[in-house]
Amino acid sequence: MPGRRKPDWLKMRPPSGRRFTDIKQTLRDRDLNTVCEEANCPNLGECWSGRNGPGTATFMLMGDRCSRGCNFCDVQTGGMEPLDPEEPANVADAVAEIGLDYVVLTSVDRDDLPDQGAGHFAETIREIKRRDPSVLVEVLIPDFQGEPELVREIIDARPDVVAHNVETVERLQWPVRDRRAGYEQSLSVLEQVSRESDIYTKTSVMLGLGEYDHEVYRTLSDLREADVDVVTLGQYLQPSRTHLDVFEYVHPDAFETWRRVAEEELGFLYCAAGPMVRSSYKAGELFVDAVLR
Ligand code: SF4
Ligand code: SF4
Repeated sequence: MPGRRKPDWLKMRPPSGRRFTDIKQTLRDRDLNTVCEEANCPNLGECWSGRNGPGTATFMLMGDRCSRGCNFCDVQTGGMEPLDPEEPANVADAVAEIGLDYVVLTSVDRDDLPDQGAGHFAETIREIKRRDPSVLVEVLIPDFQGEPELVREIIDARPDVVAHNVETVERLQWPVRDRRAGYEQSLSVLEQVSRESDIYTKTSVMLGLGEYDHEVYRTLSDLREADVDVVTLGQYLQPSRTHLDVFEYVHPDAFETWRRVAEEELGFLYCAAGPMVRSSYKAGELFVDAVLR
């Protein structure tokens, strides 16, 4: 298999500094989870500091257990807990206290709830905007099993960006994602948001799972056809030995080529692509550069 040893470009610098410890303390005080910490994200120092633009953090709503089990993801499956009704207000207070300009809200999948958590997402968006309408809110939502009325609840809460990840090319959906997820279903969620609102849409694709170049190209084309505005491409990293193997470590130059194809040939508003890029990688900074400046 090509390139299976972890290359130097994937080494990360640990975060540090006053702002980092302050944010950590605020999150602990309010008992909140961020993907940044849970996933030990390599970009944490950069995102939280907002060194080059707005500070970004990704809050994980509705607990740390998922009703699904994707083979690339480290979140625990099953044992779902009731929702914390205080969470939307708590997240909004934390955002205000930390002084974030750009917030990403995401969640585990909650197929166990009657509305799959759509109402809780919507309430959190509204609480944040109520405290400060200038805070930009991106939501990275589940597929809500493709139910349009649940996607509409999110649209009606008026976030600035709605993201939903297709994760990989069509052929690899099922070794990679839970059986309840699917390529067409994910495209339909994104397409609905584009069709029914002027909210920016965004998605993310992992590379290094064994996809062919023509499949990546086809995926990017399908996403543009669904009117998706922004795409991020990052390297799949195996969270533990029980998860899917990395097929290859894709070279940074190949990511740069895909970035150019996405932006210059296919017309995405912007594409963040690189080995360390994650869905919310410097989301605030890139969004402000591409859209608001
Ligand atoms: Fe992880 Fe999302 Fe899959 Fe749940 S649905 S296992 S949180 S990737
Ligand atoms: Fe957090 Fe996303 Fe930045 Fe990682 S890329 S630190 S998860 S905001």
